[in-house]
Amino acid sequence: MKKHANIPIFLPHNGCPNDCVFCNQKIITARLNPISKEEIIHTIETYLSTLLMRNTETIEIAFFGGSFTGIPLKEQETYLRIAKDYMDRGLIHKIRLSTRPDYIDHNILKHLKDFGVSTIELGAQSFDDVVLKGSNRGHNSQIIYESSEMIKEYGFKLGIQLMVGLPGDTFEKSVESAQKTAEINPTDARIYPTMVLSGTELERMYKRGQYKPMDIHAAIETTKQMYLILKTSGVNVIRIGLKSTDHIGPGKEVVAGEYHPAFGQLVESEVIKEILEGQLSENFEKAVFYCNNRNLSNMIGNRKSNKTYFEKKYPNKVFEFKVEEKLEDEVYRVELK
Ligand code: SF4
Repeated sequence: MKKHANIPIFLPHNGCPNDCVFCNQKIITARLNPISKEEIIHTIETYLSTLLMRNTETIEIAFFGGSFTGIPLKEQETYLRIAKDYMDRGLIHKIRLSTRPDYIDHNILKHLKDFGVSTIELGAQSFDDVVLKGSNRGHNSQIIYESSEMIKEYGFKLGIQLMVGLPGDTFEKSVESAQKTAEINPTDARIYPTMVLSGTELERMYKRGQYKPMDIHAAIETTKQMYLILKTSGVNVIRIGLKSTDHIGPGKEVVAGEYHPAFGQLVESEVIKEILEGQLSENFEKAVFYCNNRNLSNMIGNRKSNKTYFEKKYPNKVFEFKVEEKLEDEVYRVELK
């Protein structure tokens, strides 16, 4: 039985007045027809037919893309009414949405409460004012603190989305953003590496030599540190890296920035590698690494990267990666022989 599943509804933000340098929403929106009520219902029904068969414990409708609370109120109500109807019928259990930190106020939050929204994710991106300005976000870090506080006061669960590698960003600034996120103490967080997408201001900056994307190793290292800060503070990191959607992917709209479809796995495998290596002693001939079935592929690593790492670094030793079902999620046991 699957514990939790999202039904993602992508809402391109028609007429977003902002112009964040990395965003290609305007291009996507110009190309796609606005999503209709019927399309939303069709998406929900399609997901539900599988999720209900699998007895999924909690099903959440998640409105992503653009800034939900920035779209006209009537449109918001249309979408929320559909979701609430499914919730009232007991077919879904929660509603989540994402928005900008400066599109939150008391009226907006009261409105979302009335429709039973449970989680609000804020696209904070960074807590550094220079980075926010350089990315043309149109708000400063103060507003992220204020909105986060209000969201929690109203009893919503809070999610914070962060990006690494924005203009003016550094390893230290990204780590500080993770620390500040941990201080705010949201329920969940997402971390995305910055991609240079076709048609964006960031592409023009890149072509003029004003912006240099991070290489994949720096992106993994930075994200790993952020992930560790958030995890150890009890924040649930629910997503690392972009999904391979129609709009993002090799040969599609990524002009620069090393897109990797398994970026999240690369980061998590690095973390696990450190945990495992930290448990090795000087004298052993064979090391057996155990985890539950769910974590096995991350423990072995993308394209067996962790297996290869240990075998190369310790050429005279034997390494085995095994499943021990009774182990809890993200618990790794090392047996040395
Ligand atoms: S990231 Fe969000 S707020 Fe910024 S331009 Fe894109 S849709 Fe608008």
